[in-house]
Amino acid sequence: MIKIKSPQEIRRMQEAGAIAELARRACGELIQPGITTKELDQAAYRVITGFGAKPSFLGYGGFPGSICCSVNDEVIHGIPGKRKIKEGDIVKIDVGAVYMGYHGDCAATYAAGVISENTQKLIQVTRQSFYEGIKYAREGYRISDISRAVEAYTVRNGFYQVRDYVGHGVGSALHEDPEVPNFLAPGRAGHGPRLAAGMTIAIEPMVNVGTFEVKCLSDGWTVKTADGSLSAHYENTVLITKDEPIILTVGKDGRHA
Ligand code: MG
Repeated sequence: MIKIKSPQEIRRMQEAGAIAELARRACGELIQPGITTKELDQAAYRVITGFGAKPSFLGYGGFPGSICCSVNDEVIHGIPGKRKIKEGDIVKIDVGAVYMGYHGDCAATYAAGVISENTQKLIQVTRQSFYEGIKYAREGYRISDISRAVEAYTVRNGFYQVRDYVGHGVGSALHEDPEVPNFLAPGRAGHGPRLAAGMTIAIEPMVNVGTFEVKCLSDGWTVKTADGSLSAHYENTVLITKDEPIILTVGKDGRHA
């Protein structure tokens, strides 16, 4: 069942979203060669708890970090630890905050030092594919309209959307209905849930250079590209309204990654 949020629930999600964005921003500003993924995790923890919120991911299904920190061919769910970021790495920060019982969830990809032109393109296409999708995050459209737009833009630019992991509804639970795939499965066009004002969804394209296929490592969490190619991730929590969609993972200054 897809939950419609009340104005009070939406206000709490806005608070949670602002905190998640500030944690994302703090990590983004710290990313440079030499920093460890654990140090990034600690920075996010300080920001989130400093606002009286809790990291959504910490302890979720036993996850040991406050953020997911995934480097290079790691797609999502990287566990923060001793790994040192190197020059030319790309680092995905995925962070959630829960405030007064409601979650905000967002992610972005950052470069450490100089990266190739194609890797820059990967990061830009991933981010833009979110914006192609959000054009359809409006009352009356279907989830599958978002999926189709995200995928079409990505394919046109020569990259691949991951299929085994998808975006999701978000609210009092980190993961709620509906699923928000980044690809259009056969027969799904014109089917599936319609969007309505008050729904809140996390749209989160995960884009690979070489293949949509991924594998999960023996740590039970880290997801990598099957072929070892690079991957980028971008996500915001979005409120459906009767008019323009509203991104909830924005700072008080109106900015977001
Ligand atoms: Mg998410």
